[in-house]
Amino acid sequence: MDLSTPITYLPGVGPARAKLLNDELHIRTFDDLLHYFPYKHIDRSRLYYIHELTADMPFVQVRGEILSYEESGEGRKRRLIAHFTDGQSIIDLVWFHPATFGWIRRSYPVGKLFIAFGRPNVFGHRLNIAHPDLDPAEMLQLGKMGLQPYYHTTDRMKRAGLNSRAIERLTRTLLSPHPASPKGEENGQLTARPEGTLSSEKMNNGQWPKDYLPQWLIERLSLMPLGQSLRALHYPESADELRRATYRQKFEELLFIQLNILRLTRTRQQVVHGRIFNRVGPVFNDFYHNHLPFMLTNAQKRVIRQMHADMCSGHQMNRLLQGDVGSGKTLVALMTMLIAVDNGCQACLMAPTEILAEQHYATFRDMLSGVDVRVELLTGAVKGKRRRTPILEGTQSGQVNILIGTHAVLEENVAFAQLGLVVIDEQHRFGVAQRARLWQKNDTPPHVLVMTATPIPRTLAMTLYGDLDVSIIDELPPGRKPIATRHLWQEQKETLYRGVAAEIACGRQVYVVYPLIKESEKIDLQDLEAGYEEWCNRFPELRIACVHGRMTSQEKERQMSGFVSGETQILVATTVIEVGVNVPNASVMVIQNAERFGLAQLHQLRGRVGRGAEQSYCILVTKYELAKETRQRIDIMCQTNDGFEIAEADLRLRGPGDIEGTQQSGTAFDLHIANIARDGQLVQLARDTANEILDADPNQNLPQNAMMWQHLASLGKEAIDWSNIS
Ligand code: ADP
Ligand code: MG
Repeated sequence: MDLSTPITYLPGVGPARAKLLNDELHIRTFDDLLHYFPYKHIDRSRLYYIHELTADMPFVQVRGEILSYEESGEGRKRRLIAHFTDGQSIIDLVWFHPATFGWIRRSYPVGKLFIAFGRPNVFGHRLNIAHPDLDPAEMLQLGKMGLQPYYHTTDRMKRAGLNSRAIERLTRTLLSPHPASPKGEENGQLTARPEGTLSSEKMNNGQWPKDYLPQWLIERLSLMPLGQSLRALHYPESADELRRATYRQKFEELLFIQLNILRLTRTRQQVVHGRIFNRVGPVFNDFYHNHLPFMLTNAQKRVIRQMHADMCSGHQMNRLLQGDVGSGKTLVALMTMLIAVDNGCQACLMAPTEILAEQHYATFRDMLSGVDVRVELLTGAVKGKRRRTPILEGTQSGQVNILIGTHAVLEENVAFAQLGLVVIDEQHRFGVAQRARLWQKNDTPPHVLVMTATPIPRTLAMTLYGDLDVSIIDELPPGRKPIATRHLWQEQKETLYRGVAAEIACGRQVYVVYPLIKESEKIDLQDLEAGYEEWCNRFPELRIACVHGRMTSQEKERQMSGFVSGETQILVATTVIEVGVNVPNASVMVIQNAERFGLAQLHQLRGRVGRGAEQSYCILVTKYELAKETRQRIDIMCQTNDGFEIAEADLRLRGPGDIEGTQQSGTAFDLHIANIARDGQLVQLARDTANEILDADPNQNLPQNAMMWQHLASLGKEAIDWSNIS
């Protein structure tokens, strides 16, 4: 029997259900259903007496019969109550959807023996079970029933009666040699049984379906065979069997992700040649010896050396540079770009926002003044023929050495004479497709450096950016004092104002940030404006600037530059200042409504202060009542300044799918069962194993691995399309 059999061939699945399964869960075949794993199991191995039940129990099952039905309540409170007895005591079973009342009375007739299963509640002073599952008592096989699977279903499915229980019946049918007699679901229409069905005995000893992982690997890691693991994930005989089955599936999933990434990376390294930048010449040396205003940290030196080695290797560099906010990534990027210039090539720096691009431009101009390099800025704001044309012409002729910009640098009309290096700052806002367009701008692809200030936990990086080599700046420039972070309630305004006043009296500057969430931009703007007024009223003697996304770039620029030059003492702003802004004299970051920010964002914002030698502060202001998770976020912020620790916590609290940017990353990242946050060690094991396999089988043609490669190819739809990129 073929696992690719369409799901309509399964008894109990007619056209309507098949469509629902497809629409809602993308289940089309037997194999898809087999891989639709339950999210939890509940122990159904014992029966309770009603008198034993208490409201704090988890799911329980009792055996008994319904004595009578009763309807009560009005309107939305209308409910159907069945008085259920086990012969000794009585408990109420309750249902709330009037449309189903008739069906329930018919399906569960008075006087018939049932097993009722559910979670006991107290209602009034009586115990009841709301929306219980009822099975005919003869279906109960204690011990053998063991752990019952629970499947996620959608509202639409539930409305059509395709709930967890119904899915359970389907998987049970699929996995059992003698399926329970069809229950006449879906208008009594039953489809024909396919020839032969998965035999659970076969699956039990793991013989079938045939395992695609090579035998040596299964033996070495004591992995549960494929067939057994699939059965056990739905119907485990014990918690231990479930654990081993889960382990096998997680490992397999992560292994194929790593095989895919590493296989493509290795191919690219073989096929794509990189420019060789072996000259460290006059521009770099002039800057390094005559213009660099401080000593590089050891971490900065190490990273520059790593990148120089990459660019001499003859391969294309593809490197991810991670470093906490303020660790000096921009400077590293600048010096790497000078190496490109020394080797007769141009370099391009892409930033996610105009403000950031402008700031980089200003930094570069400043740092490189007196060095023989032409730097230009190209953003959407650089308008008009007179300003744009010389930049475009200079870029095309090669006279512009370094081009800094936003998406604008990706436009069709931007041509480079000799693009040798692309640096992408704050990469998480750029999609893979956008990056790919840069690659296409040249015959020989440029080296690529991706910088991110949002530290990515190692295991996530291995999965998301597994094709990039990783460099980490794990050291801050000397003299930085850790930022002290405090949490204040909204009501503690006076404390806040006093603290701010004290810092300003010492000549420092203060940021005040208000949240900005797209959907409610208007309300947020009101918050910001009201806040701005409050600050102005409280400190009439100070100059206070205000910046938000609705301003023209000129107005923004004017307000910002007043703060950068020190003219204004307080900058009230939305998150437009999140990335990149650099005012070393600012020593306080006040974040209003901090409960509305994610951890990564809070950390980014905090990174705007603590850039000078003075003690800096971050004040998180929240309302009084906080959800548990919000409370944890605030606590973590108060406990640590370490971006990696914060990123790990973020991953734990939110799960990788929610981490900013992972969705747009475009990397094959569709985990069904493994969890990058919790399965870190397994990610490492999968990566090591994948490397080992590719070392031994570089051409992917060893017979003992044939089935594995075949399986990888069948997963291919999720693969990254390198043809776009190189
Ligand atoms: P990042 O981009 O990693 O957030 P930046 O490159 O903006 O950090 O650097 C933050 C600040 O630290 C800048 O003012 C920069 O000039 C300064 N800086 C960078 N490297 C050093 C160093 N080695 N010593 C002292 N200051 C440094
Ligand atoms: Mg930066």
